[in-house]
Amino acid sequence: MDATAKHLLDWYDVHARSLPWRSPPGKPPPEPYRVWLSEVMLQQTTVAAVGPYFARFLERWPTVEALAAADDADVMAAWAGLGYYARARNLLACARAVAARGGAFPNSEDGLRALPGLGAYTAAAVAAIAFDRRAAVVDANVERVVARLYAISEALPKARATIRARVEELTPDKRPGDFAQAMMDLGSAVCTVRSPRCLLCPLQMDCQGRIAGPESFPVKPQKKLKPVRQGQAYWIERDGAVWLVTRPGKGMLGGMRSLPDDGWSARGDGSGVGPLDGVWRPLGTVRHSFTHFDLELQLMLYSGGNLARLAADKGEWWRMDQLEEAGLPTLFAKAARLALAIEG
Ligand code: SF4
Repeated sequence: MDATAKHLLDWYDVHARSLPWRSPPGKPPPEPYRVWLSEVMLQQTTVAAVGPYFARFLERWPTVEALAAADDADVMAAWAGLGYYARARNLLACARAVAARGGAFPNSEDGLRALPGLGAYTAAAVAAIAFDRRAAVVDANVERVVARLYAISEALPKARATIRARVEELTPDKRPGDFAQAMMDLGSAVCTVRSPRCLLCPLQMDCQGRIAGPESFPVKPQKKLKPVRQGQAYWIERDGAVWLVTRPGKGMLGGMRSLPDDGWSARGDGSGVGPLDGVWRPLGTVRHSFTHFDLELQLMLYSGGNLARLAADKGEWWRMDQLEEAGLPTLFAKAARLALAIEG
């Protein structure tokens, strides 16, 4: 057995979490029904939240055949609160498929994978934990531990293939079920997302990431830099009211009220001119992030000139003390707050 696997199993023998769906380290595996039920419940859900549900399900449906014979509505109602309800529907479909085979779960990863609703992770976890099969069990905890252990510099999601290959190499022939659970426990208790406790870690002497800085693994995919557009919006006020326009139905923020602007959303080159002749003074800039670009919107204050042309535009004078009721989109609400803070 690889020395790293041995260090981990020695640690697990002392520190294994005691959970209702588990056997203690080194003991015969738990019933496949319990392992499968817990693994389905634990997807995207914490151990603490799953505990009472697991107990209630086992009390009410102590075997996979009992669950298979349950009314759909009863199972859905018992699942209520755990979320991700597709899991409950898949649970029933799987229970019925297993009951149709006489109540025995397949004892290989491939056989388990063929059951309805069993993804690659769950099939590997049940094969390893319930049947002590050598299977690479990689959940988010394991992914993090292994990325750190080998200081894998490739970014996710590409790194997943390397991580899986490393887990396959590391998984021992003996006690693969305990090894899988030990990895999960190490990730949840020691090699945590923030502030990993390397000094308490049984793998500290094997770990390349400990020196390099554990928090930098797994390497996150680089965020694509968004282009930045510049634009201008115009604050024109008279007698306690500000001039608002309604944006064209098509295009960005279509059909919404806004401050008049230079058309940044259509052009994006930021070289617009004011909506009317006059004297303009910059009030400041607001920044806003849209899905495909970031915007720097310079807010210009109208400080003199001819307002007569406004009447012909599609707009309205809106009382500044009732601006919250105008339903301005966030970008223009920010701009309005800026103007009101400066002006008044
Ligand atoms: Fe994680 Fe630190 Fe242990 Fe490495 S030594 S596996 S970074 S806790």
